[in-house]
Amino acid sequence: MSAQGATLHFLGTSDSKGVPRFWCGCAVCSGARTTGANRRTRSSALLRRGRETLLLDCGPDLHAQLARLGAPLIPDAVLISHAHNDHILGLGDLLDYVSYAGGHLKIFAPEQVIPQLRERFAYAFRGEGFHAGFQQSAPVQPLPRSGLTVCGYTVRAFEVPHGANGSSHAFRFDSPTHRWAYITDAIGVPDELAERWLTGLELLVLGTAFRDESASVQSRRSLYDVREALELSWARAAGRVLLTHLSHDIETGAALPHGHFGYAHDGLSVELGT
Ligand SMILES: [Zn+2]
Ligand SMILES: [Zn+2]
Repeated sequence: MSAQGATLHFLGTSDSKGVPRFWCGCAVCSGARTTGANRRTRSSALLRRGRETLLLDCGPDLHAQLARLGAPLIPDAVLISHAHNDHILGLGDLLDYVSYAGGHLKIFAPEQVIPQLRERFAYAFRGEGFHAGFQQSAPVQPLPRSGLTVCGYTVRAFEVPHGANGSSHAFRFDSPTHRWAYITDAIGVPDELAERWLTGLELLVLGTAFRDESASVQSRRSLYDVREALELSWARAAGRVLLTHLSHDIETGAALPHGHFGYAHDGLSVELGT
């Protein structure tokens, strides 16, 4: 198994509110409206290797993100990190998309996330063949603890603290030659968790909504900020760090002080495992 030839496409790189935000006249939002710079949709990514694909999360902008791809693709699998709106509200569109394309879709989520999905998308869990594309009894299956093999990687999920918003999950991808992780919604990851899951990475995709939230009420926060990310030992140790889940506070054209840190943007593609 090799990850040779795998590509990570960033379909969306914004925080839960998107950029530009409604009614916001800040420089980033104004620029996003007029020039398109920093225009971003809710966070989602697509891993591809040859004809194999894996979709990471399905936020409210998924319809436009998939339509933008040009040709239909059937994800071999979809992984859902947690049941917050900005990561799951495209689930209905995704089910339609696959149904229309006549394909099979396997959607996986960590076991504890599934009851929340069942509650939010009750119609999809009725098992009445509402979506012709369904070939399995449940629309969302528990992600096996041993992980999933796709696109040359074994993908495993691990639970991470999400501050005031409870908990989320991150994904680690291992091939014999390449390792990377996708962790969009987290703050205060304990050292032992980082040691287990976030070491030896060639690439780390990390969510940072704001540049500096040190003046905010800390108990209300739910994601790392850029200032903290730059100081995290496990992030600094990664070969490359791409920051995502970016609010209108972030101007992605601005330089970051550590050369191996950078901002992701919608439409960015990164070659992996080469
Ligand atoms: Zn704004
Ligand atoms: Zn989020």
